[in-house]
Amino acid sequence: MAKLWSGLLSGLLDLIFPYPAGCQLCGRGRQKGICDECWAALRCNNGERACARCGRFFPRGIPYAYQRCLQCRRQGAPFLACRAAGPYEGLFKEAVYKLKYQRRRSLASPMARLMWSVVKDDPLFQDIAAVVPVPISPGRLRERRFNQAGDLAREICNLAGWTYAPVVIKNRDTRPQTGLTRAERADNLRGAFTVTHPRKIRQKTVLVVDDVYTTGSTLKEMAGVLRSQGAEKILGLTFAAGRLET
Ligand SMILES: [Zn+2]
Ligand SMILES: [Zn+2]
Repeated sequence: MAKLWSGLLSGLLDLIFPYPAGCQLCGRGRQKGICDECWAALRCNNGERACARCGRFFPRGIPYAYQRCLQCRRQGAPFLACRAAGPYEGLFKEAVYKLKYQRRRSLASPMARLMWSVVKDDPLFQDIAAVVPVPISPGRLRERRFNQAGDLAREICNLAGWTYAPVVIKNRDTRPQTGLTRAERADNLRGAFTVTHPRKIRQKTVLVVDDVYTTGSTLKEMAGVLRSQGAEKILGLTFAAGRLET
C-alpha cells in the first residue's frame, strides 16, 4: 500500500513539475537529454589532469610536478584508484544539482556516458565484477524517491556490460557532509554502511559509483566495509570530483 501511494505521489509530482522541454541543462532547443553545446562543454573538461589515486583535479594553470596529490602521497587508502568525469564546478556542478534535487533523471544517461569514457581504456578498470552504488538512507530515499548514484551505476552497467550490484545499504541518516572537516566527515559516516550480500563481492574487483568525490570519506568508508566483507580490490568512479587548492 505504501508503495502504491508513493507511486501515485511520484506520478502526481511529475504532472505538477514536468520535465521542461529542451536541453536538461540549459533549457535550449527541443531535443531530449543534453544539447550539443552543453555536451561539448562537458567533454572539453574531460581529460584534465588529476591525481592518479583519488582522481581530484589539479589546480588549473599551475604545473603540478607529482602524479598524486599531497594527501595520497602521505597516506594510503582502502581503494586502488578513483576517477571522475570532470571537476565539480560549472556545468558539472549544475548537472549534479539538477539530477539530484530537480529529479531530472534523464540526465543520468549522458552523465554516465562521460564517466564511462574516462575509464573504458584504463587498464585498472578492466576486471570489474560488481558495480556498487553509494546508498542513501531509507529516510532520504523516501524524500527523494530515487538514488542518483543508483541511476548512474545502472547506466554505466548498461554501457560497460558490468553487473549492477546494489549490495550496500545505509543504516541511518547522517548529517550532510557539507561544512564538516575531514575528520568530522569520517566520524559522521563511521558504521553507516552494511553489506547485505557479501557473496556478490567476495574476492572480486568492485567499482563504487557516486555522483561527487569531495574529500573521499564516503569512498573510504565504503571501501573499508566492502573489504571487511571479502572484496578484493576497490575502485571508485564519480561524475565530478573536487579541485585541489595548491
Ligand atoms: Zn544545453
Ligand atoms: Zn589524491
